[in-house]
Amino acid sequence: MTTQETIELFDKYVIANYGRLPRVIVKGEGCYLYDADGNKILDMFPGWAVSALGHCHPKVVESLRTQSGELLHIDNTFYSEPQGVLAKLLSERAFGGKCFFCNSGAEANEGALKLARLHTSQEKYKFITAEGSFHGRTFATVTATAQPKYHEGFLPLLPGFIYVPFNDVAALESAFSDEVAAVMIEPIQGEGGINVASAEYLQTIRRLCDENGAVMILDEVQTGIGRTGKWFGYQNFDVEPDIITMAKALGGGVAIGAMMAKEEIAASLVPGKHASTFGGNCLACAAGIAVIEAIEEDKLLENAVELGQYTKDRLEQLRGKHSMIDSVRGIGLMIGIQLTGSGKTIVDQCLKKGLRINCTNDTVLRFMPPMIATKSHIDNAISILDSVLSEGD
Ligand SMILES: *Cc1c(COP(=O)(O)O)cnc(C)c1O
Repeated sequence: MTTQETIELFDKYVIANYGRLPRVIVKGEGCYLYDADGNKILDMFPGWAVSALGHCHPKVVESLRTQSGELLHIDNTFYSEPQGVLAKLLSERAFGGKCFFCNSGAEANEGALKLARLHTSQEKYKFITAEGSFHGRTFATVTATAQPKYHEGFLPLLPGFIYVPFNDVAALESAFSDEVAAVMIEPIQGEGGINVASAEYLQTIRRLCDENGAVMILDEVQTGIGRTGKWFGYQNFDVEPDIITMAKALGGGVAIGAMMAKEEIAASLVPGKHASTFGGNCLACAAGIAVIEAIEEDKLLENAVELGQYTKDRLEQLRGKHSMIDSVRGIGLMIGIQLTGSGKTIVDQCLKKGLRINCTNDTVLRFMPPMIATKSHIDNAISILDSVLSEGD
């Protein structure tokens, strides 16, 4: 099919709820995408942080091939080995909690919010979340997402949510009460523009949750599974949450979500309270296991630290050259470039020159290279960005 023919199918049969770039992607390999017109694209924002090991990582592909010959899916009426093994691998790399599996980030967050309500007393029904956050599109998680643009058309939302400015310790203290069931925060806000929480902020959340009998939930859907150079974003901050949620990078391209809770909290989730038909699916869990093994075998956490620093240094050099770059921020391979104006045309121009990056919150370019990337991939990306910014000068 030609690009035009595929786009016509979408126009006729697919709901137009996404603003799509006019390319049809037919193949992905490592750091590159290939479109239906034979163009090769360097992908520095693979799958919105899903394909963190690059596209079609051989270990993930191999594991999927093997598992699909054995058992694709078995419902949670039974036990299945991949689900148990993946839970163990995740638990050992976080705070030793227990896992619930589902299929997406929103669903993981939904599970966390429900568990917090179940675990705390009946009078506790309030949730605190931060302005600029993004937690998903289900009714509870879009309510948790404290950005008015995501609420338009959906009022009234779920009751009980309190929004506080991100990284503002005093605002958090004054919002707290014994009616709060949980605080839900991203350690680094992704969609909100790569805003890094301060250690003081996260530690204050920990203290206030302890003092008020509330649950500390960290949304690690974007920060989790190694992107920051640690398995989970919170591990950069000397703080331990009660619940973490993850999804995006966990399946290496296969849909999976997970929530991990400390054992005493997890105990509140008894049969009948929450479930997901596809949750813990054999294929998805086999992919998750392969992702964790590949990160370890290929030393990708180390690469995220080193290459992340290299990328930030190179971007700082660009900042010296282009007044449009205001600042560069982030941890590991989760990097935001704050522009002085809109980034949309820059993203479009980069794509024309064979580079895929993202723009979020209007003025922040998001650079989230695959964890398998090398300095030469970064150099190529930076030189394309440099030439695009030069045209704008
Ligand atoms: C993407 C994202 C979500 C939503 O995940 P879905 O899989 O799209 O439901 C939630 N929280 C954060 C931090 C995200 O980046």
